[in-house]
Amino acid sequence: MAAGLRQRILFLLLPCISIAGCGGSEEATTNVVPRAVYVDTLTMKAMVCDVEGEAPLVNPATGKRTLMPGLYCPKCQRWHPLPPLDQINRTPNATKCSKTGVELVADGPWPE
Ligand SMILES: [Zn+2]
Repeated sequence: MAAGLRQRILFLLLPCISIAGCGGSEEATTNVVPRAVYVDTLTMKAMVCDVEGEAPLVNPATGKRTLMPGLYCPKCQRWHPLPPLDQINRTPNATKCSKTGVELVADGPWPE
């Protein structure tokens, strides 16, 4: 796996290790919350969400904890949900598209 992609995955799954001030300090509230593309694992619909807390995040539309960080598939031209971190560590092909076998990338066109 490319080093940059792995870094991105860790950032999305464990935001607290990457975001300065993420420890409940007063200053943390003034920081701009980074945003990223998440995919609902029930509907497979991609949406842009604030990167807050550990994945999966709660989908504001359904109230269910089903949002996983998305990785973009250049071949399908759609966002796929990221598998859980332990699965990424165990499975060499975890960040490849299950349909086309193409390596997923961290960036792509953002959904509305
Ligand atoms: Zn794909």
